Amino acid sequence: MTVALFTLGGTIAMAGTGSGGVVSRLTGADLTAAVPGLAGIPLDVRDVEAVPSAALAYRQILDLVDAAGAAVADGAAGVVVTQGTDTLEETAFLADLVWPHPEPLVFTGAMRNPTLAGPDGPANLLAAARVAAAPVARDLGVLVAFNDEIHAARFVRKTHSTSTATFASPNAGPLGHVIEGAVRLLTRPPRHAPLPPVDSDRLAATRVALHTVTLDDDPALLDALAPGLDGLVVAGFGVGHVPPDFAPALGALAARMPVVLASRAGAGSVLRDTYGAVGSETDLRRRGLVCGGLLDPYKAKVLLRMLLAGGAERAAVDAAFARHG
Ligand code: ASP
Repeated sequence: MTVALFTLGGTIAMAGTGSGGVVSRLTGADLTAAVPGLAGIPLDVRDVEAVPSAALAYRQILDLVDAAGAAVADGAAGVVVTQGTDTLEETAFLADLVWPHPEPLVFTGAMRNPTLAGPDGPANLLAAARVAAAPVARDLGVLVAFNDEIHAARFVRKTHSTSTATFASPNAGPLGHVIEGAVRLLTRPPRHAPLPPVDSDRLAATRVALHTVTLDDDPALLDALAPGLDGLVVAGFGVGHVPPDFAPALGALAARMPVVLASRAGAGSVLRDTYGAVGSETDLRRRGLVCGGLLDPYKAKVLLRMLLAGGAERAAVDAAFARHG
């Protein structure tokens, strides 16, 4: 029973250069050597990248999903991916949208790099390997194991810039915990059918932007953003509200491309038909915006880009957000 380990870099793999800050340069062999508890779990280690997670792109994650799929087809019980935490909520969600296998694909990383006191990477890697090897973690899609908690990729958020307890699922809570080394699942959300594969060139050419509205925001910013865009996510106030003079501008954009309404609040859903003012969720839906539901703006952007890269028409975009949001 082998677990495949793919390393992409991030703080978990960082070490000093002697001439400045830490950079990603530890290999999978270095990472696993720091975790004696891993001895009982045979690992097939593949070093893919050694980069800060801000440098990752969709194509690398989709290629990684393919390689992880090949690993489970070859008999791996599950797969662990180590990477930087900054973009992990997006990469894990992207992987979850396309991961078709029952085996667990588990993302993890670290908040304290290995040069600091109490680095969390070794414990996170051990927990992730235990989850990847656990039969009870099958059929849950892509997971995030961090701080001895197990989160569904579709719910998890990075909620703190430095805390080792940064990953949380504000709308759902963790799916489970790793307790005394055992994987304990508390709840099993149903999975969605995976999205079809997308063409690399089409993905690279698909441009989706995210605009977060702010107090006294300037709608002219949308005009600057719009040319060349295929889709837009708007992170509105609260339940999905924007300043009144944004409403016609967003309506005009929604006539040309899918514009998805999400909330900048950090948790909770945008509403559909409670408020009636200009710029409210009801007004924006009437003007053609798509309701993002419970999806946070970052996940909404990932889903919209994948849908558009896959050639989804407006009805398919609506249906996908109704399903995932
Ligand atoms: N900046 C780092 C990264 O995302 C942070 C981390 O790994 O936690 O690569």
